[in-house]
Amino acid sequence: MRSDQPKTEQFNDIGFVIPVYNEEASLNELHARILDSCERLKIEYLRICFVDDGSTDRSWKTIEGLCATHPDTTCALRFRRNFGKAEALQAGFSHLSNEVIFTMDADLQDDPEEIPNFLEKLSEGYDLVSGWKKVRHDPIDKTLPSKIFNGLARAASGVQLHDFNCGFKAYRAEVTKHIELFGELHRFIPILAHAEGFKTGELAVRHHPREHGVSKYGSKRFVKGLLDLITVVIMARYMKRPAHIFGGIGLASGMIGFCILAWLSF
Ligand code: UDP
Ligand code: MG
Repeated sequence: MRSDQPKTEQFNDIGFVIPVYNEEASLNELHARILDSCERLKIEYLRICFVDDGSTDRSWKTIEGLCATHPDTTCALRFRRNFGKAEALQAGFSHLSNEVIFTMDADLQDDPEEIPNFLEKLSEGYDLVSGWKKVRHDPIDKTLPSKIFNGLARAASGVQLHDFNCGFKAYRAEVTKHIELFGELHRFIPILAHAEGFKTGELAVRHHPREHGVSKYGSKRFVKGLLDLITVVIMARYMKRPAHIFGGIGLASGMIGFCILAWLSF
């Protein structure tokens, strides 16, 4: 259930989930900038949760250092191996109990100074606000497949967003408790949330080129993403009435078989 929120809603209980896979060079700056932004907003309860997704560089050492120097605001989870971004986000969602949860990539391509804009948009009554990298600073072999993917996702799901897969998002806790992420489902969070009846909005955000480390996703993700899109759309529409799709296909092929048999008999 969702109640309409008044426009003046104030949030002072915020958690951040930061998935980390070999991002040692950007963690300290990202942490400092999130703290700075939240201090300016006078956020009373703040939790920044790093989820180390099996990093093999010094990311975990850096995260341990941040937890030791900021025990009131900072915590961390560590996977034994690399499980993927979706699992990292899910672990963070299960760990935090804040009223509003942000997700941000660890590579500083997202800008912590945008945090107040997300809160303002949430207070308009949205349950999930998804970032839109309107001007994207990534190579063309990422931006072009991403445009095609977003177009297909819009057409298949009916959810009218420009950018489904932006790592920068803000959620009311009800959303993060309801959806379950695994595999590579992090690309489809707005579709999963929409299927559960949550109101999803979009916010154009500044996007920065990656300055440290390397992207973890190559062009192979485009094909995987399309296959997953089919799964997600079928799941969202037919999970609770599977006979409507499988029965429909069965009936159609049965009819074709019957017609062929009748024609051969005749
Ligand atoms: N990431 C992760 N596990 C993975 C791959 C990526 O936790 O298996 C994290 C990564 O460290 C970053 C975020 O997910 O914080 C987005 O990854 P990346 O920047 O490589 O994606 P891109 O921006 O190139 O699409
Ligand atoms: Mg990135």
